[in-house]
Amino acid sequence: MTKDLFRDDSYLTGCEAKVVDIREDGSIVLDQTVFYAMGGGQPGDAGVLTAADGTKVDVATTLKDKESSDILHVPAEGQGHSLSVGDTVSCEINWDLRYKYMRFHTALHLLSVAVPYPVTGGQVGEKEARLDFKLPDPDFTKESLTEMLMKLINQDHEVSTRWISDEELDAQPDLVKTMSVQPPRGSGKVRLVAIGDVDLQPCGGSHVKKTSEIGAVVVSKIENKGKQNRRIRIKFAD
Ligand SMILES: [Zn+2]
Repeated sequence: MTKDLFRDDSYLTGCEAKVVDIREDGSIVLDQTVFYAMGGGQPGDAGVLTAADGTKVDVATTLKDKESSDILHVPAEGQGHSLSVGDTVSCEINWDLRYKYMRFHTALHLLSVAVPYPVTGGQVGEKEARLDFKLPDPDFTKESLTEMLMKLINQDHEVSTRWISDEELDAQPDLVKTMSVQPPRGSGKVRLVAIGDVDLQPCGGSHVKKTSEIGAVVVSKIENKGKQNRRIRIKFAD
């Protein structure tokens, strides 16, 4: 099981690590990593691994092996590498991309505050992010929702995390807003993410420290996805 350094500090851009396994497809497993593994609607990180002799391996994305909980660094297509178990590498994520994901992901938490309906899905991308809601009849427009969202962002709430046990979570089912993504269980504890006193929910994603870091966003689209469902897309304003 890979030690996920990004879980405790999402601002870490690099670390040293040791290769502990190479999978048949060339994916690299390290003893620890700063690469976020795809999950919860957030893409896996891209970046570079540099071996002791200076050779570099471009990592296209990062996935989690559900069975072993190993984090798989997937080399860019067509890229062979000569890393082997026991090698030391230095890891560096594509921070520009990751920081966008962190800003969007945190903005989606606030979107779920502005739109207090059950969330049925969501995705963060490079250019936009979206949440799907079980929401038959919205009482807002793109403009009024943008205003609500920006108000929450500008209140500059602090984002913090704490851990609770599976049992404590079971006792508070209201905490789980996202119907399609159940919080990761199995380890006996679940991470809660608090945004000031406006939002509290289990989440394994990566977040900015303060909501002002999100910057200006706009609600770019409110789409009908069937009678009961609305898809809301946001973009950065710049
Ligand atoms: Zn989150």
